[in-house]
Amino acid sequence: MDSRLHIINNLNYDILYQCYDDVYRYIKNHKSIAKGKRIAIKLNLVGPHKPEAAATTHPEVVSLIVDILISLECEVMLCEDIDGISILEETKILPILKKYGLSFYNLREYGYKSIEAFGETYQYSELIDTCDVFIEIPKFKTHMLTHYTGAIKNLYGCIKRKQRKDLHKNIDEDDFAKIICSVYSIRKPDIVIMDAITAMEGWGPSLGQPKYLGKLVLSTDGVLVDYYLVLTAGFKPEQLKTLQNAIKRHLSEFASEEDIFQYCSPYVKEEKFNRLPVYFGRQREKYIEILRRSLHINQDECIHCGKCKDACPFNAIDMESNMYQCNSEKCNLCTCCLELCPVGAIRLRL
Ligand code: SF4
Ligand code: SF4
Repeated sequence: MDSRLHIINNLNYDILYQCYDDVYRYIKNHKSIAKGKRIAIKLNLVGPHKPEAAATTHPEVVSLIVDILISLECEVMLCEDIDGISILEETKILPILKKYGLSFYNLREYGYKSIEAFGETYQYSELIDTCDVFIEIPKFKTHMLTHYTGAIKNLYGCIKRKQRKDLHKNIDEDDFAKIICSVYSIRKPDIVIMDAITAMEGWGPSLGQPKYLGKLVLSTDGVLVDYYLVLTAGFKPEQLKTLQNAIKRHLSEFASEEDIFQYCSPYVKEEKFNRLPVYFGRQREKYIEILRRSLHINQDECIHCGKCKDACPFNAIDMESNMYQCNSEKCNLCTCCLELCPVGAIRLRL
């Protein structure tokens, strides 16, 4: 078995245990896995979404991996930076914790340390920095600003929320891609297990539609996983700044983009996938302008929790006439509020 890219096809969540032996062998054979190891598993729990919305790592995938690691007598630490237990309830991670008698490790409760990467200092999760083995289980999705999100972008959640909020002020595509790649470089995952069984297409990362791809992709190289999946979804890798930056900074096990392409293209079968348009320069400015003017809060659904206002790096959300409102003049479409609203009341009115 080639540990660099192991793709299991034609999967469904309700029959996922059919691939147990295959996934078990992959994990067991990895050089870092051994009895007693403390393993941090970073999920993508972007908000309180139900599994069928395809915004978060599916609980069946999490359950499979936990089951395998426990049978290998490892110490399992499921983790993510979350805003309250409702996320664990909605995403159906809570029953897994109960079933296996596990605790959930909310990154913000385990401290941060200053770590430098590519000339900048990041407040990085202590728990992830100090675990023996680091596994991530991201979800493959479209993203209205970075075009897609996968293994590289998922680790942006390893830095302190306050810093994430401040850095989100930087919506220049190049600069933000560099930040995402710097954070990824601090602790590259030992194993990536990408949940691309049902991915998200359209207005990701939270407002898109589920798209069945049927794939679980295991790898020791997150850049390679992302590259394979963006080709599968029909993106042009040369247009994706995050991916290009990661390759340029040698965050892949491969020396060049050509090597990555040569390696993974034989496995690629392009799928019909609703991608968001990729614009450059003035066109991108216009695209963002249209989107930010279309952001609105549905007052019938808003429960006045104030999370969007707290999260907004641009102070674009205010309470007016007893209603939370988004000021499009100040909004920079960082998508933080979309990701955090617990009831999905923030939408795009296109
Ligand atoms: S209103 Fe929402 S999308 Fe706009 S800047 Fe604030 S948090 Fe970001
Ligand atoms: S829009 Fe969502 S996040 Fe903002 S106050 Fe209403 S319910 Fe809370």
